[in-house]
Amino acid sequence: MIRVKDVKNIVILTGAGISAESGIDTFRSEGGLWEQHRIEDVATPEAFARNPDLVLRFYDMRRERIQQVIPNAAHFALAELDARWRSEGRHLLIITQNVDDLHERAGAQRLLHMHGEHLKALCQACEVRSDWRGTMIDRPPCPVCGARALRPDVVWFGEMPYHMPEIYAAIRAADLFVSIGTSGAVYPAAGFVRDARGQGAKTLELNLEPSQGSHWFDDARYGPATEVVPEWVEEILG
Ligand code: NAD
Repeated sequence: MIRVKDVKNIVILTGAGISAESGIDTFRSEGGLWEQHRIEDVATPEAFARNPDLVLRFYDMRRERIQQVIPNAAHFALAELDARWRSEGRHLLIITQNVDDLHERAGAQRLLHMHGEHLKALCQACEVRSDWRGTMIDRPPCPVCGARALRPDVVWFGEMPYHMPEIYAAIRAADLFVSIGTSGAVYPAAGFVRDARGQGAKTLELNLEPSQGSHWFDDARYGPATEVVPEWVEEILG
């Protein structure tokens, strides 16, 4: 068992499962389809080169969708944990694989988006990121350089995730690593639990069902994120 009073530095990894009850589909539905699309048709640089209209339309739809949903009890519980620990000068970092903005809308501040953000556009001409809420299918100009070369600022399969040096530094310093709502199928995030264990952190999985790497965790609680995450946060905060 993980002794709560010994914990001083928490790293939390979140995945699509934490946003599922807000109404955003997870990645790996039955049959390996993501909203009726094969992942390789919408989430790779090759797919974008082959059929940019399909990819832009798909992300326009996702971008519109996330603006219609709201954070759930799991996002709010993590934001509360972040705020309380920050006020006590304790270390905590939320690393999310999600490209929605539900953690920040719930109030979380110490947060890194390792797979980018739906609400940002990346200009392929000037490489500047801009806030973006509208569509891209109509090839709008980059607000900075004017080139009609915007793409979603999301990390596709085969691309390098963001913030990796900062993430590995946080994992090296963690004494508790918590994985929430992620299938353990997408690397490098799926390997973080082993890195955390390797340097002596305790590890906890909160998920609907055991993930692919469930045997790497010291402790696990299974159930919907809106139940298991607030319960765990309440325990930590005493
Ligand atoms: P995944 O879809 O591969 O796995 C989702 C995990 O969440 C599964 O283990 C499932 O058991 C669990 N889950 C489902 N409903 C849950 C619930 N109510 N409570 C708790 N757990 C629940 O997702 P992943 O591991 O995050 O990897 C997929 C990739 O897809 C990520 O890289 C991410 O960028 C992208 N993605 C993001 C979003 C988002 O931003 N909300 C949504 C879909 C996919």
